Amino acid sequence: MIPYGRQHIEQGDIDAVVEVLRSDFLTQGPRVVEFERCVAAYVEATHGVAVNSATSALHIACMALDLGPGDWLWTASNTFLASANCGRYCGASVDFVDIDPLTYNMSVPALAAKLVQAEQQGRLPKVVVPVHFAGQSCDMRGIAELAARYGFKVIEDASHAIGARYLDRPVGNCAYSDITVFSFHPVKIVTTAEGGLCTTRDAGLAQKMELARSHGMTRLPELMEGESEGPWYYQQVSLGYNYRLTELQAALGLHQMQSVDRFVARRHALAERYDQLLAGLPLKRPHQTPDSYSALHLYPVVLDDAGQRHRVFEGMRAAGILVNVHYIPVHLQPYYRRLGSQPGDCPQAEAYYAGTISLPLYYDLGEAQQDHVVAALAALLSAGK
Ligand SMILES: *Cc1c(COP(=O)(O)O)cnc(C)c1O
Repeated sequence: MIPYGRQHIEQGDIDAVVEVLRSDFLTQGPRVVEFERCVAAYVEATHGVAVNSATSALHIACMALDLGPGDWLWTASNTFLASANCGRYCGASVDFVDIDPLTYNMSVPALAAKLVQAEQQGRLPKVVVPVHFAGQSCDMRGIAELAARYGFKVIEDASHAIGARYLDRPVGNCAYSDITVFSFHPVKIVTTAEGGLCTTRDAGLAQKMELARSHGMTRLPELMEGESEGPWYYQQVSLGYNYRLTELQAALGLHQMQSVDRFVARRHALAERYDQLLAGLPLKRPHQTPDSYSALHLYPVVLDDAGQRHRVFEGMRAAGILVNVHYIPVHLQPYYRRLGSQPGDCPQAEAYYAGTISLPLYYDLGEAQQDHVVAALAALLSAGK
Protein backbone atom coordinates (compact mmCIF):
# COMPACT_ATOMS: atom_id res chain seq x y z
CA MET A 1 0.00 0.00 0.00
CA ILE A 2 1.21 3.48 -0.88
CA PRO A 3 -0.78 6.17 0.98
CA TYR A 4 -1.22 9.66 -0.46
CA GLY A 5 0.50 11.19 2.56
CA ARG A 6 1.94 10.14 5.90
CA GLN A 7 4.04 11.38 8.79
CA HIS A 8 7.80 10.91 9.06
CA ILE A 9 8.86 9.97 12.62
CA GLU A 10 12.49 9.70 13.74
CA GLN A 11 14.05 8.38 16.96
CA GLY A 12 14.50 11.97 18.19
CA ASP A 13 10.73 12.52 17.94
CA ILE A 14 10.10 9.41 20.03
CA ASP A 15 12.71 10.37 22.64
CA ALA A 16 11.25 13.86 22.95
CA VAL A 17 7.76 12.50 23.65
CA VAL A 18 8.98 9.87 26.14
CA GLU A 19 10.91 12.55 28.01
CA VAL A 20 7.68 14.50 28.53
CA LEU A 21 5.96 11.40 29.89
CA ARG A 22 8.61 11.28 32.65
CA SER A 23 8.29 15.02 33.39
CA ASP A 24 5.95 17.04 35.65
CA PHE A 25 3.70 18.47 32.94
CA LEU A 26 1.62 16.47 30.50
CA THR A 27 -0.60 19.22 29.18
CA GLN A 28 -0.03 22.84 28.31
CA GLY A 29 3.19 23.91 30.02
CA PRO A 30 6.71 25.02 29.13
CA ARG A 31 7.02 22.99 25.93
CA VAL A 32 3.87 24.48 24.46
CA VAL A 33 5.31 27.95 25.05
CA GLU A 34 8.60 26.83 23.50
CA PHE A 35 6.76 25.38 20.49
CA GLU A 36 4.81 28.61 20.01
CA ARG A 37 8.03 30.62 20.08
CA CYS A 38 9.77 28.20 17.75
CA VAL A 39 7.07 28.37 15.07
CA ALA A 40 6.57 32.13 15.41
CA ALA A 41 10.32 32.71 15.07
CA TYR A 42 10.58 30.33 12.12
CA VAL A 43 7.83 32.12 10.18
CA GLU A 44 9.01 35.60 11.31
CA ALA A 45 5.83 36.48 13.21
CA THR A 46 5.84 37.94 16.72
CA HIS A 47 3.21 35.76 18.42
CA GLY A 48 2.20 32.09 18.25
CA VAL A 49 -0.86 30.51 19.89
CA ALA A 50 -0.89 26.71 19.80
CA VAL A 51 -4.14 24.71 19.94
CA ASN A 52 -5.34 21.14 19.49
CA SER A 53 -6.10 21.42 15.74
CA ALA A 54 -6.12 23.85 12.84
CA THR A 55 -9.91 23.68 13.01
CA SER A 56 -9.71 25.11 16.55
CA ALA A 57 -7.09 27.61 15.38
CA LEU A 58 -9.44 28.88 12.66
CA HIS A 59 -12.24 29.17 15.24
CA ILE A 60 -10.23 31.23 17.75
CA ALA A 61 -8.86 33.38 14.91
CA CYS A 62 -12.45 34.22 13.88
CA MET A 63 -13.37 34.88 17.52
CA ALA A 64 -10.41 37.23 17.95
CA LEU A 65 -11.57 39.18 14.89
CA ASP A 66 -15.05 39.48 16.50
CA LEU A 67 -16.82 37.58 13.74
CA GLY A 68 -20.46 37.02 14.67
CA PRO A 69 -24.08 36.76 13.55
CA GLY A 70 -24.88 39.16 10.71
CA ASP A 71 -21.26 39.06 9.45
CA TRP A 72 -19.94 37.29 6.35
CA LEU A 73 -16.86 35.09 6.06
CA TRP A 74 -15.59 34.26 2.58
CA THR A 75 -13.19 31.47 1.74
CA ALA A 76 -12.07 29.58 -1.38
CA SER A 77 -14.34 26.79 -2.53
CA ASN A 78 -11.34 24.51 -3.18
CA THR A 79 -10.51 23.74 0.44
CA PHE A 80 -11.16 21.46 3.37
CA LEU A 81 -14.48 21.99 5.20
CA ALA A 82 -12.83 23.60 8.23
CA SER A 83 -11.87 26.80 6.36
CA ALA A 84 -15.61 27.52 6.01
CA ASN A 85 -16.99 25.96 9.19
CA CYS A 86 -15.07 28.38 11.43
CA GLY A 87 -17.40 31.13 10.21
CA ARG A 88 -20.46 29.06 11.10
CA TYR A 89 -19.09 28.33 14.63
CA CYS A 90 -19.29 32.10 15.18
CA GLY A 91 -22.80 32.35 13.77
CA ALA A 92 -21.62 34.20 10.65
CA SER A 93 -22.79 33.51 7.10
CA VAL A 94 -20.30 31.88 4.73
CA ASP A 95 -19.77 32.44 1.02
CA PHE A 96 -17.24 31.09 -1.46
CA VAL A 97 -14.80 32.66 -3.91
CA ASP A 98 -13.80 30.84 -7.09
CA ILE A 99 -10.23 29.70 -7.80
CA ASP A 100 -7.50 30.59 -10.24
CA PRO A 101 -7.35 27.88 -12.95
CA LEU A 102 -3.53 27.70 -12.80
CA THR A 103 -2.76 27.59 -9.05
CA TYR A 104 -6.19 26.42 -7.78
CA ASN A 105 -5.87 29.13 -5.10
CA MET A 106 -8.46 31.85 -4.43
CA SER A 107 -8.64 34.00 -7.57
CA VAL A 108 -7.95 37.65 -6.84
CA PRO A 109 -9.94 38.87 -9.89
CA ALA A 110 -12.89 36.69 -8.78
CA LEU A 111 -12.58 38.12 -5.26
CA ALA A 112 -12.45 41.68 -6.63
CA ALA A 113 -15.56 41.14 -8.77
CA LYS A 114 -17.46 39.57 -5.89
CA LEU A 115 -16.55 42.50 -3.62
CA VAL A 116 -17.97 45.01 -6.14
CA GLN A 117 -21.28 43.13 -6.12
CA ALA A 118 -21.29 42.67 -2.34
CA GLU A 119 -20.70 46.37 -1.80
CA GLN A 120 -23.75 47.21 -3.91
CA GLN A 121 -25.81 44.73 -1.88
CA GLY A 122 -24.41 45.90 1.46
CA ARG A 123 -23.00 42.44 2.23
CA LEU A 124 -19.25 42.98 2.34
CA PRO A 125 -17.33 40.27 4.21
CA LYS A 126 -15.81 40.93 7.62
CA VAL A 127 -13.24 38.14 7.24
CA VAL A 128 -11.71 36.51 4.15
CA VAL A 129 -9.84 33.19 4.49
CA PRO A 130 -7.49 32.52 1.56
CA VAL A 131 -6.14 28.96 1.57
CA HIS A 132 -2.58 28.20 0.42
CA PHE A 133 -3.65 25.16 -1.57
CA ALA A 134 -1.15 22.29 -1.79
CA GLY A 135 1.37 24.49 0.05
CA GLN A 136 1.66 27.28 -2.51
CA SER A 137 0.91 30.80 -1.28
CA CYS A 138 -2.04 32.74 -2.62
CA ASP A 139 -1.46 36.14 -4.22
CA MET A 140 -1.41 37.76 -0.78
CA ARG A 141 -0.36 41.18 -2.05
CA GLY A 142 -3.46 41.32 -4.24
CA ILE A 143 -5.69 40.14 -1.39
CA ALA A 144 -4.16 42.64 1.06
CA GLU A 145 -4.82 45.51 -1.36
CA LEU A 146 -8.48 44.52 -1.53
CA ALA A 147 -8.59 44.15 2.28
CA ALA A 148 -7.35 47.72 2.65
CA ARG A 149 -9.88 49.01 0.11
CA TYR A 150 -12.93 47.14 1.45
CA GLY A 151 -12.02 46.93 5.13
CA PHE A 152 -12.09 43.18 5.70
CA LYS A 153 -9.73 41.12 7.88
CA VAL A 154 -7.61 38.29 6.49
CA ILE A 155 -6.90 34.86 8.01
CA GLU A 156 -4.45 32.84 5.92
CA ASP A 157 -5.28 29.13 6.08
CA ALA A 158 -1.71 27.84 5.79
CA SER A 159 -2.61 24.31 6.90
CA HIS A 160 -0.66 23.03 3.87
CA ALA A 161 2.13 25.54 3.99
CA ILE A 162 4.52 25.39 6.93
CA GLY A 163 7.96 25.71 5.36
CA ALA A 164 6.61 27.58 2.31
CA ARG A 165 7.82 31.03 1.24
CA TYR A 166 6.13 33.94 -0.48
CA LEU A 167 8.11 36.87 -1.96
CA ASP A 168 11.20 35.46 -0.24
CA ARG A 169 9.71 35.46 3.25
CA PRO A 170 8.17 32.58 5.22
CA VAL A 171 4.43 32.01 4.93
CA GLY A 172 2.97 32.90 8.33
CA ASN A 173 4.79 36.19 8.89
CA CYS A 174 1.43 37.98 8.50
CA ALA A 175 2.81 40.84 6.39
CA TYR A 176 -0.40 40.63 4.31
CA SER A 177 -2.85 39.26 6.87
CA ASP A 178 -4.05 39.55 10.45
CA ILE A 179 -3.60 35.92 11.46
CA THR A 180 -2.12 32.78 9.83
CA VAL A 181 -3.23 29.26 10.76
CA PHE A 182 -1.14 26.09 10.50
CA SER A 183 -2.15 22.42 10.86
CA PHE A 184 -0.01 19.66 12.32
CA HIS A 185 -2.22 16.74 11.32
CA PRO A 186 -0.14 13.66 10.35
CA VAL A 187 -0.65 14.10 6.60
CA LYS A 188 0.62 17.69 6.70
CA ILE A 189 4.29 18.73 6.47
CA VAL A 190 5.09 18.72 10.21
CA THR A 191 3.01 16.80 12.76
CA THR A 192 1.96 16.88 16.42
CA ALA A 193 -0.57 14.03 15.78
CA GLU A 194 -3.36 16.58 16.11
CA GLY A 195 -2.52 20.23 16.46
CA GLY A 196 -2.75 23.73 15.08
CA LEU A 197 -1.22 27.12 15.63
CA CYS A 198 -2.08 30.76 14.94
CA THR A 199 0.61 33.33 14.22
CA THR A 200 0.09 37.08 14.29
CA ARG A 201 1.95 40.37 14.71
CA ASP A 202 -0.83 41.83 16.84
CA ALA A 203 -0.44 41.41 20.62
CA GLY A 204 -4.14 42.16 21.18
CA LEU A 205 -5.26 39.42 18.80
CA ALA A 206 -2.81 36.96 20.40
CA GLN A 207 -4.24 37.73 23.84
CA LYS A 208 -7.83 37.23 22.62
CA MET A 209 -6.86 33.91 21.03
CA GLU A 210 -5.16 32.76 24.26
CA LEU A 211 -8.36 33.50 26.17
CA ALA A 212 -10.51 31.71 23.59
CA ARG A 213 -8.26 28.65 23.78
CA SER A 214 -8.74 28.24 27.51
CA HIS A 215 -12.28 29.02 28.78
CA GLY A 216 -11.93 32.82 28.48
CA MET A 217 -10.10 32.53 31.77
CA THR A 218 -7.21 34.68 32.99
CA ARG A 219 -4.93 35.07 35.98
CA LEU A 220 -3.47 38.34 34.69
CA PRO A 221 -4.62 41.27 36.90
CA GLU A 222 -4.48 43.69 33.94
CA LEU A 223 -7.16 41.67 32.12
CA MET A 224 -9.51 41.44 35.12
CA GLU A 225 -12.52 43.54 35.99
CA GLY A 226 -11.92 45.00 39.44
CA GLU A 227 -9.24 43.79 41.82
CA SER A 228 -7.72 40.34 42.15
CA GLU A 229 -8.97 38.68 45.34
CA GLY A 230 -5.69 36.86 46.02
CA PRO A 231 -3.07 34.52 44.61
CA TRP A 232 -5.69 31.78 43.90
CA TYR A 233 -7.88 34.11 41.92
CA TYR A 234 -8.85 33.84 38.26
CA GLN A 235 -11.61 35.40 36.22
CA GLN A 236 -13.59 34.38 33.18
CA VAL A 237 -13.67 37.55 31.07
CA SER A 238 -15.07 36.09 27.82
CA LEU A 239 -16.42 32.78 26.49
CA GLY A 240 -13.72 30.28 25.59
CA TYR A 241 -13.14 26.59 25.04
CA ASN A 242 -10.64 23.89 25.98
CA TYR A 243 -8.53 23.86 22.82
CA ARG A 244 -5.20 23.25 24.57
CA LEU A 245 -2.31 21.34 23.02
CA THR A 246 -0.53 18.80 25.24
CA GLU A 247 3.13 18.85 26.23
CA LEU A 248 3.55 15.50 24.45
CA GLN A 249 2.34 17.07 21.21
CA ALA A 250 4.43 20.20 21.67
CA ALA A 251 7.57 18.12 22.25
CA LEU A 252 6.88 16.18 19.06
CA GLY A 253 6.25 19.40 17.14
CA LEU A 254 9.41 21.02 18.48
CA HIS A 255 11.54 18.14 17.32
CA GLN A 256 9.76 17.97 13.95
CA MET A 257 10.30 21.72 13.40
CA GLN A 258 14.07 21.13 13.40
CA SER A 259 13.57 19.23 10.13
CA VAL A 260 10.92 21.31 8.38
CA ASP A 261 13.28 22.61 5.67
CA ARG A 262 14.55 19.09 4.98
CA PHE A 263 10.97 17.78 4.84
CA VAL A 264 10.00 20.40 2.25
CA ALA A 265 13.20 19.93 0.23
CA ARG A 266 12.49 16.20 -0.04
CA ARG A 267 8.97 16.96 -1.28
CA HIS A 268 10.46 19.24 -3.92
CA ALA A 269 12.86 16.53 -5.09
CA LEU A 270 9.96 14.08 -5.40
CA ALA A 271 7.73 16.61 -7.14
CA GLU A 272 10.44 17.41 -9.68
CA ARG A 273 10.74 13.70 -10.33
CA TYR A 274 7.00 13.48 -10.85
CA ASP A 275 7.19 16.46 -13.22
CA GLN A 276 9.72 14.62 -15.38
CA LEU A 277 8.10 11.18 -15.22
CA LEU A 278 4.62 12.48 -16.00
CA ALA A 279 5.61 14.69 -18.93
CA GLY A 280 3.79 13.52 -22.03
CA LEU A 281 0.83 11.96 -20.20
CA PRO A 282 -2.63 13.45 -20.91
CA LEU A 283 -2.83 15.43 -17.68
CA LYS A 284 -1.95 18.81 -16.20
CA ARG A 285 0.84 18.86 -13.61
CA PRO A 286 0.82 21.37 -10.70
CA HIS A 287 1.95 24.85 -11.68
CA GLN A 288 4.57 26.54 -9.48
CA THR A 289 4.38 30.35 -9.42
CA PRO A 290 7.72 32.20 -9.40
CA ASP A 291 6.79 34.38 -6.37
CA SER A 292 6.22 31.33 -4.15
CA TYR A 293 8.23 28.39 -2.82
CA SER A 294 5.56 25.77 -2.12
CA ALA A 295 5.64 23.43 0.86
CA LEU A 296 4.21 20.85 -1.58
CA HIS A 297 1.72 19.29 0.78
CA LEU A 298 -0.02 17.80 -2.27
CA TYR A 299 0.75 16.83 -5.84
CA PRO A 300 -2.63 17.14 -7.62
CA VAL A 301 -2.81 16.31 -11.32
CA VAL A 302 -5.82 17.13 -13.51
CA LEU A 303 -6.71 14.62 -16.21
CA ASP A 304 -7.26 16.11 -19.68
CA ASP A 305 -10.31 13.88 -19.94
CA ALA A 306 -12.23 14.28 -16.67
CA GLY A 307 -14.49 11.44 -17.84
CA GLN A 308 -11.61 9.05 -17.06
CA ARG A 309 -11.18 10.21 -13.45
CA HIS A 310 -13.51 7.70 -11.80
CA ARG A 311 -11.95 4.71 -13.61
CA VAL A 312 -8.37 5.90 -13.07
CA PHE A 313 -9.02 6.59 -9.39
CA GLU A 314 -10.48 3.11 -8.88
CA GLY A 315 -7.66 1.52 -10.86
CA MET A 316 -5.02 3.23 -8.75
CA ARG A 317 -6.75 2.16 -5.53
CA ALA A 318 -7.01 -1.39 -6.85
CA ALA A 319 -3.24 -1.30 -7.44
CA GLY A 320 -2.71 -0.41 -3.77
CA ILE A 321 -1.99 3.24 -4.48
CA LEU A 322 -4.20 5.27 -2.18
CA VAL A 323 -4.69 8.34 -4.35
CA ASN A 324 -7.11 10.97 -3.11
CA VAL A 325 -9.14 13.94 -4.33
CA HIS A 326 -8.55 17.47 -3.00
CA TYR A 327 -11.10 18.98 -2.87
CA ILE A 328 -14.80 18.48 -3.38
CA PRO A 329 -15.85 22.16 -3.67
CA VAL A 330 -17.20 23.11 -0.27
CA HIS A 331 -20.07 25.12 -1.78
CA LEU A 332 -21.45 21.83 -3.20
CA GLN A 333 -21.68 20.15 0.23
CA PRO A 334 -25.30 19.51 1.29
CA TYR A 335 -24.82 21.57 4.46
CA TYR A 336 -23.78 24.66 2.50
CA ARG A 337 -26.36 24.07 -0.22
CA ARG A 338 -29.05 24.17 2.46
CA LEU A 339 -27.62 27.60 3.35
CA GLY A 340 -27.96 28.83 -0.24
CA SER A 341 -24.86 27.77 -2.24
CA GLN A 342 -25.44 26.03 -5.56
CA PRO A 343 -23.68 24.37 -8.50
CA GLY A 344 -22.33 27.00 -10.87
CA ASP A 345 -21.33 29.38 -8.03
CA CYS A 346 -17.62 28.58 -8.51
CA PRO A 347 -17.21 27.16 -12.05
CA GLN A 348 -13.39 26.97 -11.94
CA ALA A 349 -13.40 25.02 -8.66
CA GLU A 350 -16.04 22.69 -10.10
CA ALA A 351 -14.09 22.13 -13.34
CA TYR A 352 -10.86 21.47 -11.42
CA TYR A 353 -12.61 19.04 -9.07
CA ALA A 354 -14.04 17.05 -11.98
CA GLY A 355 -10.61 15.94 -13.20
CA THR A 356 -8.25 16.02 -10.25
CA ILE A 357 -6.39 13.21 -8.49
CA SER A 358 -3.75 13.75 -5.77
CA LEU A 359 -0.77 11.43 -6.23
CA PRO A 360 1.16 10.11 -3.21
CA LEU A 361 3.69 12.61 -1.89
CA TYR A 362 5.42 12.29 1.48
CA TYR A 363 8.91 12.28 2.96
CA ASP A 364 9.43 8.50 2.97
CA LEU A 365 8.03 7.87 -0.52
CA GLY A 366 10.82 6.02 -2.34
CA GLU A 367 11.86 6.48 -5.96
CA ALA A 368 10.87 2.90 -6.81
CA GLN A 369 7.44 3.45 -5.30
CA GLN A 370 7.12 6.66 -7.24
CA ASP A 371 8.03 4.84 -10.49
CA HIS A 372 5.33 2.29 -9.63
CA VAL A 373 2.74 5.10 -9.16
CA VAL A 374 3.62 6.63 -12.52
CA ALA A 375 3.61 3.29 -14.34
CA ALA A 376 0.19 2.41 -12.92
CA LEU A 377 -1.19 5.81 -13.90
CA ALA A 378 0.26 5.64 -17.42
CA ALA A 379 -1.18 2.15 -17.95
CA LEU A 380 -4.63 3.24 -16.78
CA LEU A 381 -4.59 6.33 -18.97
CA SER A 382 -3.55 4.42 -22.08
CA ALA A 383 -6.16 1.70 -21.40
CA GLY A 384 -8.83 4.39 -21.60
CA LYS A 385 -7.90 5.48 -25.11
C1 LIG B 1 -6.11 19.89 7.33
C2 LIG B 1 -6.78 21.19 7.05
C3 LIG B 1 -7.50 21.90 8.01
C4 LIG B 1 -7.85 21.34 9.35
O1 LIG B 1 -6.75 20.90 10.04
P1 LIG B 1 -6.92 20.04 11.37
O2 LIG B 1 -5.60 20.27 12.06
O3 LIG B 1 -7.13 18.64 10.94
O4 LIG B 1 -8.06 20.59 12.14
C5 LIG B 1 -7.99 23.15 7.68
N1 LIG B 1 -7.80 23.68 6.46
C6 LIG B 1 -7.14 23.01 5.51
C7 LIG B 1 -6.94 23.65 4.16
C8 LIG B 1 -6.63 21.73 5.76
O5 LIG B 1 -6.00 21.06 4.79
